[in-house]
Formats: sequence, C-alpha cells, structure tokens
Amino acid sequence: MALIVQKYGGTSLMDTARIKNVANRIKLYHEQGHQLVVVLSAMGHTTDYLVEMASEVSSEPGKREMDMLLSTGEQVSIALMAMALDELGVPALSFTGGQVGILTDDRHTEARIHSISVERVRPHLDEHKVCIVAGFQGVDQHSNITTLGRGGSDTSAVALAVALGARECEIYTDVDGVYTTDPNKVADARKIDRLSYEEMLEMARLGAGVLHSRSVEMASKNNMVIHVRSSFNNAQGTLVVPEDEVMEQVVVRGVSLKTDEARIAVVDIPDRPGLAADLFSRLAEAQVNVDMIVQSTGKDQKNTISFTVTEKTLNDSRRIVEAWLRDLESGSYEVDEEIAIVSAVGIGMKSHSGIAARMFQALANVGINIEMISTSEIKISVVVSMDDGRGALQAVHEAFELGKAS
Ligand code: ADP
Ligand code: ASP
Ligand code: MG
Repeated sequence: MALIVQKYGGTSLMDTARIKNVANRIKLYHEQGHQLVVVLSAMGHTTDYLVEMASEVSSEPGKREMDMLLSTGEQVSIALMAMALDELGVPALSFTGGQVGILTDDRHTEARIHSISVERVRPHLDEHKVCIVAGFQGVDQHSNITTLGRGGSDTSAVALAVALGARECEIYTDVDGVYTTDPNKVADARKIDRLSYEEMLEMARLGAGVLHSRSVEMASKNNMVIHVRSSFNNAQGTLVVPEDEVMEQVVVRGVSLKTDEARIAVVDIPDRPGLAADLFSRLAEAQVNVDMIVQSTGKDQKNTISFTVTEKTLNDSRRIVEAWLRDLESGSYEVDEEIAIVSAVGIGMKSHSGIAARMFQALANVGINIEMISTSEIKISVVVSMDDGRGALQAVHEAFELGKAS
C-alpha cells in the first residue's frame, strides 16, 4: 500500500463522461488499498473560456480578479469528481488549494508556492478517503486566491507529492508520455522512456507544454520521480528522473517549439556603458523574464538590442521600453509578435561538438531563415518566423534522427 499523488489534466476531463471514466480509474487504485491524493485541472478548455470572458469585459483585467475567476474552473472539476466517486461508493472529499494549505507569494497569475501544510488531508487519508485537490491555485498570506501560471496544476501535484512524501507523482494526460517532440505537431515523434530533470526542464521551458516547467524544477530539487502517462490506457509512460538513472545515451533528447514569445528590437541607441544594464534592470524589476538577447553595433556607433519576452508580459515590456527611450531621448523600438522559437535539447550536447552546425544546416536545407540564436550547455535555440515554426520543428527533429523510423 502506497501514498500516491495523481494529477489529471483538462484533456482527461473534457466532459462528465470523462470525469466518470477517471472516477472509475481512481476506484481501482482505491480498491488496491492505496492512499490517494488526486489533483485536478479545469475541465477541457474551461480556463481558456474564462480568459476569453475576462477580455470581453475588460481591456486589461486586474490580476487579483483574474485569479478569482480562473480558480473557479478547478473547483467545478473537484466537486464533480467527489460526487462521481461517491456514486461509485468510494469515499472522497474535495479541497481547494487554500483548504489544503497551499500558501503562495502574492504574484497574481504567476504565483510561486511557498509552503504546503498537509495536516488537513492526512486524517482523511488515514480513514481511507480519496482527497481531491484543485490544482493551479493557492492563497497568499492575506487569503487572496492566487494561481500558478497556465498549466500550473502539474506544479500543485508535484508540490503535494513532495509535501506528503509520496514515492512518485503520476501526471495523467492525453498522450502516452513525453515524446521527442509534440506528437500533435510531428506525427513521427517517438515516446521517450526516461529523461533527466535537466532535459525535461529545458524542454518544458522551451515549449513542451506536457509539463509545467516549475513542476520539473520542484521535482528535481526534491528528487521526486514524475511519471507522465495516459489517462486513456494503462501503458507505462515516461519517467522523469535524476541524470544518472537515464540509461539511453543520446545527444539530442527532444525538440521543442514555442510560439508565445515576441521580439522587441530597440534601435539607434547610443553605444555607452550602462545602457543595457539600465534597460534590463527595469524589465527585471517589473518581473519581465527576458529570454534571448542579441546586441549589434551599426555604423555610427549606434546599437540595436533585440530580445524576446513572453506575449503575456508584452504590454508591460512596451511601457518600460517607451519610458526608457524617453529618458534616453533617442532611439526607437519595433515589436514582432510573429516569431517562433525552435530548440534542440539534450545532456549529451555537453560532450559533443557540431550540434549547432547540424541544426543550422537542417534549417538551411529547407530554406528557413534564422533570425536569432541562443545556446547553453544542453540546448540550442533559434528564432524563426512564426510561419516557419512547424517546418523548422520537423526539419530539426529529422536532422537528429529522433523519429520512429530512425
Ligand atoms: P493536460 O490537460 O493533461 O495538462 P496539456 O495540454 O497541458 O494536457 O499537455 C499535453 C499536451 O502536451 C499533449 O497533447 C501534446 O500536444 C503537448 N506536448 C507538447 N510537447 C510535447 C512532448 N514533447 N511530448 C508530449 N506531449 C507534448
Ligand atoms: N486549468 C489551468 C490551465 O488551463 C491549469 C492546468 O490545466 O494545469 O492552464
Ligand atoms: Mg497541462
């Protein structure tokens, strides 16, 4: 008998029939005698609908109210699941994030978990009740409801697994595991049996939406194994584990596509020490995460600095850049939202050379222009135009022979 934390995503909870399906799966685990904590997302595309409704009543909805709104999606799921389990004769209780003591900071819509106090659920687990917890949400120190960023239910699940000392955290979704790239974008993508936290973290940050990147960060810090698997079958999925437990040695583990970033280019600015420091400090203060940065110097000692930010922070970024240019009394800026970032990720890159050249050649072969490049020890990312995103993903996936046929 084990304590198991399972998370079911919105794709597994499309409608009440799917809720009943999941309830039946939970019943089987319960009958085996396990103690179960089940974390749920909102049903299907509920969160998207809620975001859409907010935009219909407000041009820039307040973040506190946004969290109040978005957190309702998960509450519908947990209540319905508890009822469905009760109907099957399985004792179950639903809890909001606040009720299970998920305490976060006050960064609305992107909050980070500070602590979890699981005393509230322990006695129920001991009485063999299934505890159903709303994912994606917590409360700050003033009891305001917060949310953890889109896809954040994965992070709720890993955090609960860590707090409860579970053996592993199961993430149930609509694909059989983590693939070499999004199987809904490249038909040839192959399921990966095991990959390291480091690789999964990069892939998640760079667009592999199958796991929320913060869930991987938290699992890595606490050595919690994440098992990504399908809620539609019983097949073994993908294990996300420490690096020394990954058997298969490959150079590139996976390829990701990110389409929610925009590029800002500030042009015609003086070439003087301290300017970049000032701009990026202002962005950092406003909690804008800058991803890639490229600076180039033109003829008359004028600089251009291009950088990428997520579209979510684009309005804040524009305001900051405009104020900075006003203070500088020179320069101008352009925004390009039609970009895509394609990245190759693998710990094997640490000990191999020529990977960048192979990736760039693959893109050249299909006539795709590279607009920006950024590398780290275990990844290479390029910015291409949005229209070229899918083609670039496919080309890089093929170049590293990641497909089923290879
Ligand atoms: P859930 O509702 O279960 O949280 P998500 O939509 O957040 O589901 O995540 C599952 C989806 O992630 C898949 O349907 C797939 O399209 C996408 N995805 C992106 N990259 C990958 C990848 N490398 N491996 C598997 N799935 C991926
Ligand atoms: N329901 C939230 C979202 O759609 C959280 C999640 O699904 O993990 O982003
Ligand atoms: Mg998800």
